[in-house]
Amino acid sequence: MKLSNSRRDFILSLGSVAAVQATAATRGECFPAPASDLVRTAAGYVNPRKVLLWESTRKEIREALETGRLKAAIVPTGSTEQHNEHLAMIHDTASAVLIAQQAALELYPQVTVATPVPVGISPYWMERKGTLTLRRETFLAVVFDLCDSLRAHGIKTILILNGHGGNEKPLKEQMEEFRQKLGVNVEACSYWEAYAAEGVRDEVKRLMETGPENVPGHSGEFETSVALAAFPERVHREAVDYEKLKLALKDPEDARNDRKFYYDSLLARAEKGEVLIRIAADWVAARLRSMMERS
Ligand SMILES: [Zn+2]
Repeated sequence: MKLSNSRRDFILSLGSVAAVQATAATRGECFPAPASDLVRTAAGYVNPRKVLLWESTRKEIREALETGRLKAAIVPTGSTEQHNEHLAMIHDTASAVLIAQQAALELYPQVTVATPVPVGISPYWMERKGTLTLRRETFLAVVFDLCDSLRAHGIKTILILNGHGGNEKPLKEQMEEFRQKLGVNVEACSYWEAYAAEGVRDEVKRLMETGPENVPGHSGEFETSVALAAFPERVHREAVDYEKLKLALKDPEDARNDRKFYYDSLLARAEKGEVLIRIAADWVAARLRSMMERS
């Protein structure tokens, strides 16, 4: 941004910009003022928190329901599980929320994103430290209760947006029962289904140096690219030395894959993540739009 003369003079009169920033930082401020968080939607400029149910007030949700503006909800499901040496455990939950929020902004003000389910079905990663897992019935009961809460408030269209592989089959197997019990239009999908859609397959193929079969791949080029684009603070390569790593895994194939995921992740780039996020958000928005039309 080009500073106006008076503003530049003002800054210079206070000394160097760096000195001003350092002083402001100690006061917990950011100077020059940070860019706004506002994003442009079809309905105008919006603070992105407005599509997050847990960041909304009851007034906002009530009025959105009363006026009929709010028609649908996304329930993100993720995991808290090992993501190799370099990604935060919360990656799957964070990416499901990210895609859900971007899709909800595309459809603003019709969609709210419910509080995510941050732990999933991950028993197969328990050999690696830190992984948390729910029993299938516990996980499905939590998801059901969230959908039932949304139904009670009058939401008739619910998309469960999954970000963790282990949740996918149990969710899909349960949808018919959910629909019967809830009496609303509820569906479940994983956001990476977007990459198999007609019209984007070639783009994904060009993007993925390890091959399109590694979408959604665990902690490799795909997930690390998404993290670098959306939340780089959750990528920690510092002091990671895979060659010196002593990881005792019982299954040799499991150990080979773990190593492969790490080296694949070195091909991750934020620019790839930006494209992958855009494809998934557009696909989720389109799917939800068609669900709302049918409700
Ligand atoms: Zn993951």
